[in-house]
Amino acid sequence: MTEQHRGSCLCGAVRFSASGPLRGVVYCHCSQCRKQTGHYFAATNVANDTLTIESSETITWYAASPHAKRGFCAVCGSALFWKHNEADEISVMAGAFEQPSDLKAEMHIFVADKGDYYEITDGLPQFDRSTPAIKVAGD
Ligand SMILES: [Zn+2]
Ligand SMILES: [Zn+2]
Repeated sequence: MTEQHRGSCLCGAVRFSASGPLRGVVYCHCSQCRKQTGHYFAATNVANDTLTIESSETITWYAASPHAKRGFCAVCGSALFWKHNEADEISVMAGAFEQPSDLKAEMHIFVADKGDYYEITDGLPQFDRSTPAIKVAGD
């Protein structure tokens, strides 16, 4: 049986499930992620066709740049998805998954843009911008 990972926004209006293994969690410290989340973005990534959005009436998509859009719940404000317009995959916020999530933290990107009020001390790899393995806006 294929593993299933279920998740939702805070109010429960948006519900989704992802089938199959989830990528490790990437922390994005760029200014857009910082502003949207109030801190930094922590997301796994799945192929479009493995993600099922079961309840989506309250999803709002905000085009933060010409390259990508950010999906959040219009009722409770939960940040949920990040989608590059030309990619066949979608990033899903790690914290939206039910526990246990089986997720593992993997790396930090856009560390050059991080907020000035914290240090990264977990020993994971850090990249000033991104790394070829991770698709980001503008690439
Ligand atoms: Zn909600
Ligand atoms: Zn970011």
